[in-house]
Amino acid sequence: MILTVTMNPSIDTRYQLDKLIIDDVNRVTPEKTAGGKGLNVSRVLLQLGDDVLATGLLGGHMGAYMAELMDADGVKNDFVPIAGETRICLNILHEGNQTELLESGPQIAPAELEAFTAKFAELAAKADVVTLSGSLPRGVDAGYYAELVKIAEEAGAKVLLDTSGASLEAALESDAKPELVKPNLTEINGLLGTSFTTDDVDALHETLAADDRFAGIPWVVVSMGAAGSVGFHEGRAFRAKTPAIAAVNATGSGDSTIAGFAHAIAAGADDVTVLKTANTCGKLNAMDPKTGHLVMDRWDEVYNSVVVTEL
Ligand code: ADP
Repeated sequence: MILTVTMNPSIDTRYQLDKLIIDDVNRVTPEKTAGGKGLNVSRVLLQLGDDVLATGLLGGHMGAYMAELMDADGVKNDFVPIAGETRICLNILHEGNQTELLESGPQIAPAELEAFTAKFAELAAKADVVTLSGSLPRGVDAGYYAELVKIAEEAGAKVLLDTSGASLEAALESDAKPELVKPNLTEINGLLGTSFTTDDVDALHETLAADDRFAGIPWVVVSMGAAGSVGFHEGRAFRAKTPAIAAVNATGSGDSTIAGFAHAIAAGADDVTVLKTANTCGKLNAMDPKTGHLVMDRWDEVYNSVVVTEL
């Protein structure tokens, strides 16, 4: 089983408008989805045929509605209830633009977090792979993902960590190491204080190899959007490339990549297959208008177009 964690989920509401008229009435038809990075991972894993369970924190009427949306999508879920109301995020697509209004989400009480930690320990013990995605909600310390990594790895699950900023830094400082981290190029530059571009793969490789914080993490992957990714595994370095495409909607490509890693790592695939699978998922998501959804009927074509070379 693959367990996905979404600590700050949202009801994502998307409005498609020809034109956004400011200071006047805009009539809209909403499209609502159970949102959050971990839920994108869950939906893609379902498409890949995996046994997946989603967990995290849900609260109030919006939380109950969110559970209904997950059920409707066929996403098995076991979330911990909280007093605060699950947030709503608005995404307005208009005139080729994407205007987003993102609520910060509820404050988490210490007792609620304790209840989640206990639930997580119980579920992680049944999982082969655990994915931790996105930012932490208000009231949760930046070191919390490191705590979850320790619990899951001690229970024998492999943890894939997709976060950035303070929570990534705290996890890198911790003794408990995840199986994989996947910052994108902007996130790794932020962490290292560098300004590497997609052409600086060798320098990036050297910098990561010399940085003790990454020692002991089996897979370190830096995703680079249309330029593919660089992956380091147990002393080997790989470059994965695919022919560039004009993305239809690349939102969720990183989450789809994580789903690909979870799927292939759970299956015990070799390094090249792991990287080909992950990059195929990222690209197939970018080809689909829906966030966290792959154009599955183009799997073979895209998979065969991903070239992985050892550096
Ligand atoms: P994030 O969403 O975390 O920023 P990226 O944008 O780096 O992640 O995308 C993750 C992966 O998705 C990339 O490594 C690549 O394999 C694939 N991908 C994303 N955008 C494109 C694109 N326009 N063309 C081809 N592949 C893409």
